[in-house]
Amino acid sequence: MLLAHKLASREYKPGDTVINVKNIEIGKNKTIIAGPCAVEDEETMVYIAMELKKMGAHILRGGAYKPRTSPYSCQGQGKRGLEILNTARKESGLPVITELTDIRNLDLLCQHADILQVGSRSMQNFPLLKELGRIKQPVLLKRGFCATLEEWLLAAEYILNEGNHKVILCERGIRSFDSYCRNTFDINAVPAVKNLSHLPLIADPSHGTGRKELVAPVARAALAAGADGIMVEVHPEPEKALSDGHQSLTLEQIHQLIADLKPFYSLIS
Ligand code: PEP
Ligand code: MN
Repeated sequence: MLLAHKLASREYKPGDTVINVKNIEIGKNKTIIAGPCAVEDEETMVYIAMELKKMGAHILRGGAYKPRTSPYSCQGQGKRGLEILNTARKESGLPVITELTDIRNLDLLCQHADILQVGSRSMQNFPLLKELGRIKQPVLLKRGFCATLEEWLLAAEYILNEGNHKVILCERGIRSFDSYCRNTFDINAVPAVKNLSHLPLIADPSHGTGRKELVAPVARAALAAGADGIMVEVHPEPEKALSDGHQSLTLEQIHQLIADLKPFYSLIS
């Protein structure tokens, strides 16, 4: 099958793309991104960041602008959330990733984030993708929950074509008929996309399953299938999390997962 993507393709660039974020080489070593779904209070965020740093995670995540299905769910703290994330970044030394939901916040996010995330719901927001093609920071592009691999790679193409070659793909599960899991993590997509494209691929088993007990096994499966890293939602008290607590690991659980992975993959310390 010949797909229409060009700049993202292995034909265009046979070797793996490696994206350097503060000496973390995404696409070369297995990368662990972890943090809460939404940025919460400063004390909690700094505590999470320091703990993650100690256990060997590489990048801190946290949403300041949350694209929620319901307008009545927590929408994130906006600018204040970015400031809190910045404090956690400074205190821990971990680079941060956060989601851009609105093109009007682009400059603000560029000042606060090391990597900008495009959420599943925004994967085909083409004006947003084009603007992200003009920034210096890497962009983590999540797969739309109903997107084919071709649609996903063509979305990446919008960013690449504007000149930003630092695109990281993120498989986060697709919608299926089974309601037991929130989404179905598409394990096929991992080796398929690694064959089709030179871009790094991160697996998100938190949204990919929607169930905390499935996060660690699906993370391991994705890495075994060739993913360049994982992005996992964590919270010190998941039952009290403002967003996505049902799929968040405790700090003890992420510590265990990282410890289990370390002997098998050359993690960056
Ligand atoms: C998130 O990472 O918290 C998020 C909203 O993810 P997705 O866009 O995959 O739903
Ligand atoms: Mn989430």
